[in-house]
Amino acid sequence: MRNRNLQQSWPVQSGLEKSIPATLIPGDGIGPEIVDSTVQVLDALGAPFVWEVHQAGMSGMDLLGDTLPETTLDSIRRTKLALKGPLTTPVGGGYRSSNVRLREAFHLYANVRPARTLIGGGRYEAIDLVLVRENTEGLYVGFEHYIPIGDDPHAVAIGSGVNTRAGCRRIAEFAFEYAVRNGRKKVTIVHKANILKALTGLFLETAREVGKRYADRIQVEERIVDACAMQLVLNPWELDVIVTTNLFGDILSDEIAGLVGGLGMAPAANIGPDAAIFEAVHGSAPDLAGRGKANPLALLLAAAMMLEHVGRTDLARRMRLGIDQTLNEDKVHTGDLGGTASTEELTRTLISRVK
Ligand code: NAD
Repeated sequence: MRNRNLQQSWPVQSGLEKSIPATLIPGDGIGPEIVDSTVQVLDALGAPFVWEVHQAGMSGMDLLGDTLPETTLDSIRRTKLALKGPLTTPVGGGYRSSNVRLREAFHLYANVRPARTLIGGGRYEAIDLVLVRENTEGLYVGFEHYIPIGDDPHAVAIGSGVNTRAGCRRIAEFAFEYAVRNGRKKVTIVHKANILKALTGLFLETAREVGKRYADRIQVEERIVDACAMQLVLNPWELDVIVTTNLFGDILSDEIAGLVGGLGMAPAANIGPDAAIFEAVHGSAPDLAGRGKANPLALLLAAAMMLEHVGRTDLARRMRLGIDQTLNEDKVHTGDLGGTASTEELTRTLISRVK
């Protein structure tokens, strides 16, 4: 496996602060279980976070009558830093995603989703990819409506996406900067500009322009999203950093998670000028909620990214080493990884490793 500096490319705090206020959102479904596990491990590491616990999603609705309460927003405005459990969003109707609203509220334009093989012997060895997803534009803006015809109120559905040159430029610049600072070799611009000629054509055109400025340091490649999806299955090692629009990034990052053991292994950082929010790629997994079986590693890996973000690379390194030892020496694996360990057993083992 290529040995790379896993430091992030965005501005970090000095790492000298003794205590760092941060917002903690337990979330829905398995959220409170994996958040509890992650906080226990961070405590064992002596992490500097002082938590302000707030609600969002279904829990926000149940406890405070709001899926994104003002108290939660106020806390993030103050701390500019959050660790968030997954939030349930109803399918087809109901309230708008609190995740999308949080990304919009804090201009979290970059969603960084690294995927590395942590357990050998799986279907794919030595995966080491980073997907950089545009996080505030595209088809996720949710500009959609129905047109009724006759007695069918949903006879026609119309949706529009929005990409701006400024938005495309800043995500492309983020991705190329990330690649340079992290010793990456190649950035692949993923688009569908053959069909969505304006919406993703603008993204491609702008990312190409940005890529030219980095051509002496970073190889630039372009791929249509469907071909990229196939490439990820056939030969993922050809890819390095992927930069893409919001919806494609959402879909491809779950596919990429599948290369490294599944959603239980996939962390994410939402980065913007106003705040940074760390979370797992996965959702609230209602099928596992309350059963003590969820894999907390995706959120723990997100917490490692959060430690790097605040300049505590020493603690992040200990966290990553502890995860490696827990998985590969202690062989403690949750059900999604083919093991039998509970969330609690994995947490206990990891704590004994990081202490
Ligand atoms: P999901 O990611 O919750 O679950 C998909 C599958 O992966 C399920 O079989 C689940 O059991 C498994 N899984 C997910 N996380 C796991 C973990 N940590 N350990 C072991 N197995 C795990 O996707 P879904 O079922 O499509 O969505 C459920 C809810 O989550 C929806 O309301 C959706 O909108 C929401 N969601 C939230 C976020 C977020 O908060 N960032 C992300 C995706 C989905």
